[in-house]
Amino acid sequence: AAEEGFDIEDVEGAIEEAGHGPLPVLAVIGRPNVGKSTLVNRIIGRREAVVEDRPGVTRDRVTYEAEWAGRRFKLVDTGGWEQDVLGIDASVAAQAEYAIEAADAVVFVVDATVGATDTDEAVVRLLRKAGKPVVLCANKVDGPSGEADATALWALGLGEPHPVSALHGRGTGDMLDAVLEALPEAPEQTFGTAVGGPRRIALIGRPNVGKSSLLNKVANEDRVVVNELAGTTRDPVDELIELGGVTWKFVDTAGIRKRVHLQQGADYYASLRTAAAVEKAEVAVILIDASENISIQDQRIVTMAVEAGRAIVVAYNKWDTLDEERRYYLEREIETELAQVAWAPRVNVSAATGRHMEKLVPAIETALAGWETRVPTGRLNAFLGEIVASHPHPVRGGKQPRILFGTQAGTKPPRFVFFASGFIEAGYRRFLERRLREEFGFEGTPIHISVRVRE
Ligand code: GDP
Ligand code: GDP
Repeated sequence: AAEEGFDIEDVEGAIEEAGHGPLPVLAVIGRPNVGKSTLVNRIIGRREAVVEDRPGVTRDRVTYEAEWAGRRFKLVDTGGWEQDVLGIDASVAAQAEYAIEAADAVVFVVDATVGATDTDEAVVRLLRKAGKPVVLCANKVDGPSGEADATALWALGLGEPHPVSALHGRGTGDMLDAVLEALPEAPEQTFGTAVGGPRRIALIGRPNVGKSSLLNKVANEDRVVVNELAGTTRDPVDELIELGGVTWKFVDTAGIRKRVHLQQGADYYASLRTAAAVEKAEVAVILIDASENISIQDQRIVTMAVEAGRAIVVAYNKWDTLDEERRYYLEREIETELAQVAWAPRVNVSAATGRHMEKLVPAIETALAGWETRVPTGRLNAFLGEIVASHPHPVRGGKQPRILFGTQAGTKPPRFVFFASGFIEAGYRRFLERRLREEFGFEGTPIHISVRVRE
């Protein structure tokens, strides 16, 4: 490496950084109007860490990447919540449950100028039961005169209230320091560590695509091994289901089966539930209703799973209802609307008739295999040498940036670091990803490529 102009320590640092495993998840919860969204914006605004370059998918976003004091984590924002028919307590509780379930630690935001309400007390009970680390944020303490309001929140029994003004930034640094102490280095759900333990599947898709029908189909036709792996909180339940001779853990199936929250504000709950399930899973089976046009909501769900770095299978359901014309247009739509997961294994199923259910497991196994693929450094560099020679980067300003060498820094999903002599354009990065896929497969998995440029 040294002769290529990179310091060996820089190279090692870059590999370590690019190879980071899944990030720990922090959820920000609390009643409406306490300042959750303001706080989230303040946290992610610090380094404009929001990874979002696709138009049209920003609105119902619930997870962001953030960084504080050199540590990165994922932030689940529950600020998009609206009170629904269930009333304020039930709604806040439902929202909090999903978020807590997905999180490794929680920031509980209380409006210090209002003080603790009954709804806040109810959330405290949920937090106690869940047993996750909690940082209590006493928000809207805009100046020293508000400190007394914050002190009063000791009464909640969650430890020290951190006085914060999310609006002006006062106290947020100290609070984030406390967050880092509460947050584990790596998520609790460490991937694949349980040797021989069941792989975790999230069955996701917008409402009415047929998730519960599919779940019932696979659970009824095959033996349900255990039915009561209750999670830490009341609602989300994981189910062990035997498929193709293998036991799989379908995560958060209660959210699929019950659908109590899917009345009003349904989209938002659905997004939150999807985010929670995706965080807990290794592979996402994304269900799409093939009888209807592929929607923005379908695309958002796909984006969520891709950005979370999960293995992905796309299942087109309700195949029994398709006529020839619809089949024709569906193929066109898939090409244009779901290009971002063109690499995912695809199955055309019917939860109603059981069509192609047996193809689900091989597709899932393919995706997991791609997700875990590791390319030896020697093979990778032979490959890089070849494409750099046959398809060099375009010359810019009289210079020709070159990929000098690379390595795979991690798996689940595969992460690469390439070291280059100059800035590598987006188009060339896409070309590299395409060629990597052609060469090494990676079916059913997103891949990450980061490029370091020699100073
Ligand atoms: P959410 O519903 O919990 O996401 O709350 P928002 O972030 O939307 O904030 C609700 C209202 O409280 C908005 O009008 C914010 O400007 C205001 N707000 C949020 N944080 C603070 C704060 O630290 N101080 C003051 N004075 N107002 C705040
Ligand atoms: P979920 O909201 O994603 O859990 O969707 P459901 O499983 O509740 O299904 C929504 C509707 O689609 C129900 O009326 C199901 O009977 C119907 N449905 C689900 N799968 C199929 C299928 O493969 N074919 C047909 N024709 N209908 C289906």
